[in-house]
Amino acid sequence: MQASLRPSRFMPAGHNRLGVSFEFFPPKDEGMAKILWESIERLKPLAPEFVSVTYGAGGSTRERTHATVKRILAETDLTPAAHLTCVAATREEIDAIVRSYKAAGVRHIVALRGDPVGGAGEKYAPHPGGYQNAADLVAGIKRAGDFEISVSAYPEKHPDSPNVDADVDMLKAKVDAGAGRAITQFFFENDLYFRYLDRVRARGIDIPVVPGILPVQNFTAAKNFATRAGASVPVWLAERFHGLDHDPATRKLIAAAVAAEQVIDLLDRGVTNFHFYTMNRADLVYAICHLLGLRPAVEQAA
Ligand SMILES: Cc1cc2nc3c(=O)[nH]c(=O)nc-3n(C[C@H](O)[C@H](O)[C@H](O)COP(=O)(O)OP(=O)(O)OC[C@H]3O[C@@H](n4cnc5c(N)ncnc54)[C@H](O)[C@@H]3O)c2cc1C
Repeated sequence: MQASLRPSRFMPAGHNRLGVSFEFFPPKDEGMAKILWESIERLKPLAPEFVSVTYGAGGSTRERTHATVKRILAETDLTPAAHLTCVAATREEIDAIVRSYKAAGVRHIVALRGDPVGGAGEKYAPHPGGYQNAADLVAGIKRAGDFEISVSAYPEKHPDSPNVDADVDMLKAKVDAGAGRAITQFFFENDLYFRYLDRVRARGIDIPVVPGILPVQNFTAAKNFATRAGASVPVWLAERFHGLDHDPATRKLIAAAVAAEQVIDLLDRGVTNFHFYTMNRADLVYAICHLLGLRPAVEQAA
């Protein structure tokens, strides 16, 4: 089944390529697994380019990430991408994981350094026998097989990074090691993304830098998440959610409106690929994709 674009006032004539990808996290229990699989089923007809499955801090979800990725391969025709970090593991351990993905038919890895074992904000120290950083990990994965490799990018710089130039240097190192796509940390002001993109292109980096979109399902959680990730939360966003702590229905409508505004502006300004942090929930993401013009082929044909 193919997703196809319906012309809209946001889509220039002759423009017929829009790519989306969806990020999920591995479920902890049966209840969460049910929610995840319902979400995958709902989003599947939109024919994402890939769906990625995160790797818990410090490798804590190693088996669950693997099991989720394998189930996606076995039960759907989606292309899974497995996240992998180099925290708290030797090169041999990481290499074994990469080999097991290769044997299972996984062809795409999202390669990350990961947060320090003590949590974001602590000083990062590579494992003595492990990969030193994300660029080193990318090189290791490339040696293990012909994987497609995506990496992270930070429009507002990573909190560990002394400045944006150091951050862009790290992205360049990851690209030189073999990364073919960058996915950004989420952001709420699109100008931050475009300013960052200018710097990335000026550094001679020409891989796609796909904006990561976080539909704000829960403002308090998103704000905490943003603080840890070094992403800014604009005052206007806080104001939009102000007073809605006990009103989930209105919150959801506001969340859809905020995300719609953001993606339509990105689309208007030439962005054609979007990565959605789904938080394992389909409804907002499905609505935003619909707004972008994505339709399941079945509906198109009807
Ligand atoms: C799209 C995306 C997906 C993610 N998925 C996951 C996941 O599945 N699991 C998970 O645990 N985390 C995930 N993260 C979070 C990520 O692991 C953390 O942000 C982590 O702190 C950095 O890893 P990285 O590969 O992004 O860093 P890198 O790109 O390696 O580094 C980010 C920046 O920090 C600076 N830096 C790195 N190391 C040092 C150092 N030792 N000293 C000083 N500066 C340094 C560099 O300048 C670099 O610019 C994800 C992030 C993004 C954007």
